[in-house]
Amino acid sequence: MTEEFFTSERIDRYAFLPFTACEVTDKARLDRILQGKPCRAVCVFLIPYRVESAKGNLSRYAHARDYHLYFEGLCERAQGAFPAFLTGLADRSPIHERSLALKAGLGVRGKNGLLLNETYGSFCFIGVLLFSELPQDAVLRGPLPARDCVGCGACLAACPTQCLTDPKKPCLSALTQAKRLTEEEEELLKRSELIWGCDRCQEVCPVNRGARQTPIPFFKEDLIESLTEESLNDLIETGEWARRAYAWRGKDVLFRNLKLCTRARTPDTDQT
Ligand code: SF4
Ligand code: SF4
Repeated sequence: MTEEFFTSERIDRYAFLPFTACEVTDKARLDRILQGKPCRAVCVFLIPYRVESAKGNLSRYAHARDYHLYFEGLCERAQGAFPAFLTGLADRSPIHERSLALKAGLGVRGKNGLLLNETYGSFCFIGVLLFSELPQDAVLRGPLPARDCVGCGACLAACPTQCLTDPKKPCLSALTQAKRLTEEEEELLKRSELIWGCDRCQEVCPVNRGARQTPIPFFKEDLIESLTEESLNDLIETGEWARRAYAWRGKDVLFRNLKLCTRARTPDTDQT
């Protein structure tokens, strides 16, 4: 059943571990989620999202529809497939997902803070399923010691803000999501020409060279690589906006970022 489930989901990088392998970062939240039910096993897996799409002003992970929508569907199917299934966790998780994936041997720890898988590179989301007990035919793994990447330093050198070497510097990805920006931060965004996320440290990573494209249909469909004010207005009017990874931050942040990038491309006539 376990292999059939993941094969039908087109997920080929997964591992079962004992719950004790989890690094719990928010116990109160985890308790609320579990509601007193015992959790003895977890399955951690990679959700690759890379497709051969054009480079745009949106980060690659946001080209398809919001992966939370995909994950909700997957959890519903897991509920039907596994009697011991409790719930699924992705993103705002009360356990440290990357550390669990490292312990499962699903990749190495990159200097850019991302998990690097030998096949899909760093273009993966991490999902976790919780079980009251190990599914009958599942094999328990690890936990294995976490391993580091080769440490070539290409990501450190390419980072436009040097935030990977100086923790006081901001990450562009976080800036594109910030409600308020200082003048200095606005300048950084203008130069980047990005309106959501940043992939620079991933683009230069040698592990990502030839990273396999996702086999999961959800991430190959309804792709939007770039937005303009006009196309953003269209998204909002049609309701498609609500299905996008950036919707949670509100449209004003996206419009502001677009304005900054447009201003950066428009010559300042006052200076003549
Ligand atoms: S996402 Fe961009 S700004 Fe952030 S660490 Fe990577 S290269 Fe630097
Ligand atoms: S670019 Fe080099 S140092 Fe950075 S994550 Fe990739 S392998 Fe590691």
